[in-house]
Amino acid sequence: MSTETDRSLHFIEEIIEHDLATKGEGWKVHTRFPPEPNGYLHIGHAKAICLNFGIANQYGGLTNLRFDDTNPVTEDTEYVESIKRDIRWLGFDWEDREYYASDYFETLYQYAIKLIKKGLAYVDDSTPDEIAEMKGVPTLPGKESPYRDRSIEENLELFEGMRAGKFEDGSKVLRAKIDMSSPNMHMRDPVIYRIKSEPHHRTGDKWVIYPMYDFAHGQSDSIEEITYSLCTLEFENHRPLYDWLIEALEIFPSRQIEFARLNVSYMITSKRKLLRLVEEGHVAGWDDPRMPTIAGLRRRGFTPASLRNFSDKVGIAKRDNLIELSLLEFCVREDLNKIASRVMVVLDPIKVVIENYPELKYEDLPAENNPEDPDAGSRMLPFGRELYIERADFMADPPKKYFRLGPDRNVRLKHAYIIHCHDFMTDEEGKVTEVRCTYFPDSKSGEDTSGVKAKGTLHWVSIPHAVSAEIRHYDTLFTEPEPTSHEDKDFLEFLNPDSMEIVSNAALEPSLLDTEGIQHFQFLRQGYYVSDPDSTPQSLIFNRVVGLRDSWSKKMQKGKK
Ligand code: ATP
Ligand code: MG
Repeated sequence: MSTETDRSLHFIEEIIEHDLATKGEGWKVHTRFPPEPNGYLHIGHAKAICLNFGIANQYGGLTNLRFDDTNPVTEDTEYVESIKRDIRWLGFDWEDREYYASDYFETLYQYAIKLIKKGLAYVDDSTPDEIAEMKGVPTLPGKESPYRDRSIEENLELFEGMRAGKFEDGSKVLRAKIDMSSPNMHMRDPVIYRIKSEPHHRTGDKWVIYPMYDFAHGQSDSIEEITYSLCTLEFENHRPLYDWLIEALEIFPSRQIEFARLNVSYMITSKRKLLRLVEEGHVAGWDDPRMPTIAGLRRRGFTPASLRNFSDKVGIAKRDNLIELSLLEFCVREDLNKIASRVMVVLDPIKVVIENYPELKYEDLPAENNPEDPDAGSRMLPFGRELYIERADFMADPPKKYFRLGPDRNVRLKHAYIIHCHDFMTDEEGKVTEVRCTYFPDSKSGEDTSGVKAKGTLHWVSIPHAVSAEIRHYDTLFTEPEPTSHEDKDFLEFLNPDSMEIVSNAALEPSLLDTEGIQHFQFLRQGYYVSDPDSTPQSLIFNRVVGLRDSWSKKMQKGKK
């Protein structure tokens, strides 16, 4: 039994392989992805999803989807739906194993009763402030609550009263009776139930008491007989509590294993902060293409394969670290290079007139769709006397090493002919308005017998056939690689004012009018683009996914980013 890849095993695989070898026949890898439905999933969750589903697939096991929905105030079915959509889109399937911690509320209640009956839980009337005060600080033992030694009978009666709605919100809590002097603060009699007369998005107003996350998460794993509870490092300190509860309740011993959170430069992965970006209107929504949410990445044009591959490349770490955004971009470029159709789009057009090409004559030239994919076929491109080329591809007085167009220079037009420039026109400010050329009729791509040389190849679009569109170019949402790591500054201070630029005068080849749904393209020499969900044939919209090359090394040298 081993992994498909040729890399060495990471520490979680090592643990699993050891268990499979020693625990005997019936041992199963059973993982779960346990989101709280209080926000949209982000790139860090994508990592956790790939890990949980990936490792179960690898060892013939199963993965549950479980919503840890213990907080009725912050949760919503909109989030539940978005989470399911995102996991499916990433390419994973939980089959019929869709569970909710809220489905276990009765079982969890019975667990609490069991703790009380064993003398391991008590109802505390102290206020939240008093409880915090008595908990103290890790370096000194805390103080025991005056309610800690209530009798089992009294605790049972009060806890039942809490469930029956006899007490005000916040007036009482149920606490586990563990150790007020433990150096681990989670072991200092943690609160496990609170009164909150709020309706829940699934259980309605059935409950007015809710288990705390720490009294639901681990137990839900046990109820589902999850063998490996994979979670992020911040839960390391909670593990002794979860293990204590497993022993006290005599329930299935799920094993928690912690791994480092994924952090990506220029991205934030705190749901609370992402919610602020949305609620305060700094972005257009959860699926704004600048957001590090899965919905945002999808709209930006990232593919499921690229995110899965990224997750693989990042690996599993035991210590927190920061992954460069350029790695994520590398992964999407690699995937799109294989699947994206090549098309020609001139973003900043300048007019070219081919003087020796007849007026009102047009010809269709074949153009392959993707040199990386022999099955991608080809399309026809209309060519005629008047064309657009990119403004940056012409210089009135070019240096020697400039292989694009200038007076007395030749270039090849992609899929078409070699042209020669002999003149250009400018407006009063000296801005070039038109470039005059001639073409070599026997230099057609694929059947060139002209013997004429041209060093550069340019993309172009026939003027009368050009289609317009709104093209959105994105930069990072923040100007700082770690916007949340500055203690004295709010992360919003690092919002990038130039994170979106709209290009509205681009000229697109006419085949793009047939774009349907979400389609990826490589705009030749420009980058990878994707059609936006709001795009229609009447009003096309494309988002830039990523440039063709890694631009980060250059930016870093400039010391700007
Ligand atoms: P919250 O503050 O709301 O708890 P959260 O990021 O922990 O936020 P959950 O919905 O609880 O969100 O996360 C579901 C799962 O995803 C958890 O197992 C969590 O450990 C994992 N996860 C969350 N963020 C990351 C991240 N940046 N990298 C890897 N895994 C993550
Ligand atoms: Mg969480």
